[in-house]
Amino acid sequence: MVETTEKDGMTWYRCEHCGMLFDEREDARQHEDNCDAEDPSYIQ
Ligand SMILES: [Zn+2]
Repeated sequence: MVETTEKDGMTWYRCEHCGMLFDEREDARQHEDNCDAEDPSYIQ
């Protein structure tokens, strides 16, 4: 799920899996669909 964060007066969209930042929500969503990062807490 994409997280929204504000930095330097801009809104950024962050991939909660790997922490990568995007300035476009659609880019972040598309990234998350293909993100390979695994969240260990998800398995527990
Ligand atoms: Zn990611």
